[in-house]
Amino acid sequence: MIRIKYKTKSNILTIRLLFECISVLDVPFDYSHSRELCLSGCKNYNRKYSCPPNSPSFEFLSKERSDLSVLVVKIDTDGQKENYLTLKMLNSVARSIQNNFFNYVKETTNKENTDYFLLGNGSCRSCKKCSLQFGESCKKPSKITYSLEATGINVHKLVEYGFNFNLEWYKIFDESFPKYQCVVGGIINSSHFTFYEIFHKWIENGLLKNERVLKFDPEFQQIG
Ligand code: SF4
Repeated sequence: MIRIKYKTKSNILTIRLLFECISVLDVPFDYSHSRELCLSGCKNYNRKYSCPPNSPSFEFLSKERSDLSVLVVKIDTDGQKENYLTLKMLNSVARSIQNNFFNYVKETTNKENTDYFLLGNGSCRSCKKCSLQFGESCKKPSKITYSLEATGINVHKLVEYGFNFNLEWYKIFDESFPKYQCVVGGIINSSHFTFYEIFHKWIENGLLKNERVLKFDPEFQQIG
């Protein structure tokens, strides 16, 4: 785990970065169940190529690959205003850190032609409106992104299995405010050693060079 202090316009946040490579055989997933949940509760169902029933299943993507390398960006809500806007802000910070890591992965692996598949958070946002809604084929197939959930992965169980804690959500009618906000992403890959190494390099050459990162706590460096 890596712990950092991160500066935004009006806040100093405490962020933990957790990284673990999990065997694809241990990843909890059920594509049919995910599809049913999306059908009953998500406006993107069958309106984006990145979402069920058009997204590929984890079973399909993990064929011939051995690991799911998971990055959890976990931000404390301690000292923040307890409302939906705070969670939105924290989510956006966590997503930008996840994107920064994914961009680093893309930049550093292009030359080596490493075989992997990135799974992010939320549906594909590469176009203003997904071309599925116009009955056309995907405009930017090389830029399409899928979420872990869209492939059928149960993210709650995945985090519990890999990191030993439970994700928390804001329940508006429940008095309790979540103690942290998490964004979870993953890389389906064949060599977990490579991705531990890339994660370490990103911390040194990417994350710690970011001027928003104020303090890096080495006591919390227990990765790999
Ligand atoms: S790249 Fe564009 S067209 Fe393709 S899935 Fe994403 S939003 Fe839709």
